Amino acid sequence: MGNNSGLGGRLLGAGIILAIGFVMYFMQVQKNPVTGEKQHVSMSPSQEIRLGLQSAPTMAQKMGGEVSTSDPHALEVQKIGNFLVSHTVAKVSPWKFQFHLLADTKTVNAFALPGGQVFITMGLLNKLQTEAQLAGVLSHEMGHVIERHSAEQMAKSQLGQALIMAVGVGARDPNHPGYAMNAAMVASVVNHMVELRYSRKDESEADIWGLKLMSQAGFDPKAMIQVMEILKAADKQGRSVEMLQTHPNPDLRIKNINSYLQEHPPQGNLQEGRNLKDVFGNP
Ligand SMILES: [Zn+2]
Repeated sequence: MGNNSGLGGRLLGAGIILAIGFVMYFMQVQKNPVTGEKQHVSMSPSQEIRLGLQSAPTMAQKMGGEVSTSDPHALEVQKIGNFLVSHTVAKVSPWKFQFHLLADTKTVNAFALPGGQVFITMGLLNKLQTEAQLAGVLSHEMGHVIERHSAEQMAKSQLGQALIMAVGVGARDPNHPGYAMNAAMVASVVNHMVELRYSRKDESEADIWGLKLMSQAGFDPKAMIQVMEILKAADKQGRSVEMLQTHPNPDLRIKNINSYLQEHPPQGNLQEGRNLKDVFGNP
């Protein structure tokens, strides 16, 4: 009897832990602060922001380092990024958007960390021709942040759950606002982010957000199609277009963008912005 109840107790214990795991996932429903959509995420917006902020330097290091914020290229990335934030719904969101230019000239890529840290490589910036195209790249990444795609992915994975718990422990201590994640934790976040693949649905949501934010800020959303063409051309030149490995086929994206723009014709006086050659001077 004693033995039986011991085994039963252990099984019950394992069952409870399993059940708690499921319940945690399904109970952790939050209303998206911008879209109002109900989502399975385990982090609060402030935890997401902290996770992104604390992982950003390691992420930058992995990608050839960050271009000095006084460089005209980095200033332009910040200028367009900040313009998008201050002229769109992003302004009233809880996210703290910051825009970084990575020195890597070989890789054609852009990505975002949870909470609002947005990155673009020099390799991609060099391919872009107009401010509207740059706005297209940045606003797509802002879309991933607004939709909390990485927090959703993390809630689904075990590593994500462990990280969230670790971040949660730190967040519980109001006496230590400077609490920092340790190096191992930062490294696992960064590795996780590098390997992260969003679903096709996530990517199409980010594209739609890109179009919305561009229009709200007065950039012609058709520039997003030009970005797709630029990615395709770079791929043909044999450049390392990371974005094409992590994103759906550009032709499919162009098709979806066109049908969205047909259903939601952009209003108002929309601009291409300045030519980037004029902004940076002759290369
Ligand atoms: Zn994306």
